[in-house]
Amino acid sequence: MAETRRRRLQELVKKSGNNTCAECGKKNPEWGSFNIGVFICTSCAGFHRNLGSHISKVKSLILDNWDAEQLSKMEEIGNIKAKAKYEMFIPVCYRRPSSSDPDVLKEQFIRAKYEREEFIHVDRQTYTTGFMDGYLWKRGKEDSRFQQRKFVLSEADGTLKYFIKESHKEPKATIEISKLNMTFCPKKVGNPNGAQLTYVREGSTRNIFIYSSCGSAIVNWYMAIRSVKLNKLRVAYPGTCELELSQFLTRDFLKEGWMFKTGPRSTDAYKWRWFTLDDRKLMYLEDPQDPYPKGEVFLGYHADGFAVKKGVPPGMKEQGYGFTLRTRDRIFLFGVQKEEDRTEWMKVLQSVIDRPLTPQDNTMAANLVRKRGTILNFIY
Ligand SMILES: [Zn+2]
Repeated sequence: MAETRRRRLQELVKKSGNNTCAECGKKNPEWGSFNIGVFICTSCAGFHRNLGSHISKVKSLILDNWDAEQLSKMEEIGNIKAKAKYEMFIPVCYRRPSSSDPDVLKEQFIRAKYEREEFIHVDRQTYTTGFMDGYLWKRGKEDSRFQQRKFVLSEADGTLKYFIKESHKEPKATIEISKLNMTFCPKKVGNPNGAQLTYVREGSTRNIFIYSSCGSAIVNWYMAIRSVKLNKLRVAYPGTCELELSQFLTRDFLKEGWMFKTGPRSTDAYKWRWFTLDDRKLMYLEDPQDPYPKGEVFLGYHADGFAVKKGVPPGMKEQGYGFTLRTRDRIFLFGVQKEEDRTEWMKVLQSVIDRPLTPQDNTMAANLVRKRGTILNFIY
């Protein structure tokens, strides 16, 4: 009988809706929660287990024995019905996690759904009110220590501010929400709830590294910033579909990693630098957590003279697996230690320069100006 039920589960999990993880969308779930009635992937099954069995009772579809009652719950509910219930009022600004997203986004989505039931009870969505304040750990600009700072997000002011001390009236920094991006970067910060804020200030990108000791807090900040941005876009682009607007709230970096880089002269030495590709902006830093990049390269459109090529021009020294990036006014030579790294970097850079410029891209280019030794690499 146990075998018959396992086979029935195998049929159920192939059905449309059940064939992808109810939480992150990963194909071919191997686990189920029999009280909630959803089919989930291995990693989301771990987060379900963290909720405790009073909220979710998890079993393997392959290894465990299922009794008749448990099986009938899975038959009766399934991913589509469960979604209709637990995600009934999911706000447009909320970022649903995908399987490749950081754990904190996946786990907090699952907690929001079943533990806090935020998408059933709208009043629990504290991140959609247009205001948030609280403490976050922020990495110092001059030293690398993280210190607690008070952050205040205000939709009415259109700003995110932070204060050195609670008693201070003047904020240390005031960041315009329209210029702010936030992305999760647990590895770089060295904390599972680590994130990076970026904005352009006086012509160059400023990086601020933060984390919270509480996963739900950092995710709430993220969703609050997205909510404020969405409301601003609603006003700026009335009549535009909200789902379309929701794609422009925050950006993940297209790629990051270490590469050798040298200048345009054959005598220039290669230097080991951290690269971050943020949309059309390629930044390089000495340390991944530097507050400002050493340089920022705007990547234009290929028809305007931008190109990526394998290898280096004749007479130039190649470092590891080399490739060349040509901008309008100079060339950059890069080197990585593995061939697959080169393939990946070239592919992603090519995909950027194959994309025609949008009006927003031109604004980004115009906002980046020569500063503090930053090399100006675009002409627009
Ligand atoms: Zn999953």
